[in-house]
Amino acid sequence: MLDKNTSDIVRTNKLRDEYINIRKEIETLRKKQISKLEQMQSGCGHPLIAERDYIPQTLLNLNHIPPARICEVCGYEEEGWGTGYKTLKETDARIIRKVREEDFYKLRSPLHKLPLINQ
Ligand SMILES: [Zn+2]
Repeated sequence: MLDKNTSDIVRTNKLRDEYINIRKEIETLRKKQISKLEQMQSGCGHPLIAERDYIPQTLLNLNHIPPARICEVCGYEEEGWGTGYKTLKETDARIIRKVREEDFYKLRSPLHKLPLINQ
């Protein structure tokens, strides 16, 4: 019985060590991922912008949701109420197209799915 317990402990400890090592690898990859995102977004001129209109309040959502813009190149995103857009403001060099809410979220999802391990 002792032998069985010992082998169980050894096996579990090995799995535990592997689990901890995977966590460390994920931490390293997360930092690398965030760094790449920051590099990508700070180096982008945001030439192609998609904009969705504000979303009116509903019974489930008691506040209006501000309009938003997203850069279709790097995924940088901004809300447009209050002082308005800062980084994604209108310029002569930018193409800004209006999109429906669902299309806006489709543009957003590929990049926002990446940092899932941020939780
Ligand atoms: Zn951009």
